Order: sequence, then C-alpha cells, then structure tokens
Amino acid sequence: MLQDESIASQRPGYVSTQATSLLYAGEYFDSDSQHYYNRARWYNPLTGLFNRVDPFAGNLNDPQSLHKYLYCHNNPVNNIDPSGEFTIPQIIISISIIAIVVGVIGGIVIPYINSTIVRKAIKNAKNLVITSILKLNRWNGNDQVEYLRWFGMINLTNRTYVTNGYLAIQNALNGPIKWRKTDRPYYASVVPGGPIEIELARDFWKAQAMGVDSQAGVFVHELSHEVWSTSDHTYGTVNCKALARSNPSLAIDNADNYEYFSEVAP
Ligand SMILES: [Zn+2]
Repeated sequence: MLQDESIASQRPGYVSTQATSLLYAGEYFDSDSQHYYNRARWYNPLTGLFNRVDPFAGNLNDPQSLHKYLYCHNNPVNNIDPSGEFTIPQIIISISIIAIVVGVIGGIVIPYINSTIVRKAIKNAKNLVITSILKLNRWNGNDQVEYLRWFGMINLTNRTYVTNGYLAIQNALNGPIKWRKTDRPYYASVVPGGPIEIELARDFWKAQAMGVDSQAGVFVHELSHEVWSTSDHTYGTVNCKALARSNPSLAIDNADNYEYFSEVAP
C-alpha cells in the first residue's frame, strides 16, 4: 500500500492499487495519480473532471459537450468516452469501437492503436513467461538444451534462481504497468524502483509482436531489470549464447538471456 493511500482511500471514488490497471470502461487507471488514461486526457474519478481542456471543440447543438471538463456529459454510468474527446453510448462501443474512432476523428487513431499494441505485447509476454516456467519445471531433454543455450552450466541453484526470476516477472506482468511512447533510438527503458514504468522507444514500435527481439520479449527484458535486478552485460543472441558458455553466473543475471530463453531463440 502506498504511504498516502490510507488518507486517499477515505475520499469518495478512490480506487486502490489493483491487480490490473484496466478498470473503468476498460481504460488504463493510474493508481498513483488517481487518474484514468483516456488517451487524449486523464480523467480524475474523484472530481469527475479531466486534467486538461478537451481538445474537441464541442458541438453547438449539444451545449453539454461545450463544457470542456465534464466526463461523458456528466453521466459516466450510461456513457463512456474511449478517446477522451467525445461521448458515445456504451452499446455502440460494444459493436465496433475501431469503426467509430476511425470514422469520427482520425487524429486519435494512433494512440488507440498504440494502446492495443502494448496490451497485446503484455498478453504475449505473459504467455512467454508461463511457457518458460513450464519448461524449467517440466525439464525434459529439449528444455535442458534450451536452458544450457541461454543460462549455461546446469545446476539446481542456478535453475532455481532463473525460475524465481520468471515468477517475479510473471507477477509484475499481472500488476499495473505504466508506459509511455518515445522515439529514442533503442527498444525500451525502465525506471528502477517504485511502480513499474516502462519507456517504449523507437525500436519497440518497429519490432514484430512475437519471435526473436519481439515486442513481447521487450517486456520480459525490461521487467527482469525491474523485479529481478538483471543487468545488461551483453546484448544479442550471439553474445548471449557465448556468455552462457563462458560465464553462467553473468548469464543468469543478463536481461537479454531471459528474453531469448522465453522467445525460444535459436
Ligand atoms: Zn536492458
């Protein structure tokens, strides 16, 4: 529990730290700032207001839409606002959110797609990690060959350490993850300590969803830093395989080795 949560939790409408960050109307909720992310703006459920002016100018035939800080015509029970820019009845959303977003305001298509990519990457990362844990427990001949490739010499201590690392990453993937998009020239970075905050940089957005050096693998890599204190001793499949052979102690501490084992890299 956050230090100030006991005070904050007494406020009406307070939402505590959740097992998932997707809460009201499927929107991303930031438990630190107590705001929902509605792509164009953050919505504060405590006040019913957005944190900045609605970029949509408003509809002159609908005076309530001119109030730039109201959420969903002040009626969040019957309406949701997937873009933070306009209100549509929830029933229409269940039919086709993409058609509406593309058809009504093209300018918000990119953030919507970004959000979908990230959710998919996290979902795929969960599967990579579950499979990794399965292999480390099943431990058949092929599992051992893959372990040897990425973590080197086999012994129970190291294998347990690696397994616990994936369990920690799995735990993190099931909790709230804050992310932001940048165009800096690398895959991603993570803010050490505190809540999980990942910067998804240029190469993440260019990567494939699954496979070697994938978007899903980026989450395994970054979360291994955050929750298992791994380092970047080396990068890339060739160097990481060499590290596993020459120095298993460093291999079980290297973020890319966790990524490649989970991606079943050749
Ligand atoms: Zn790294």
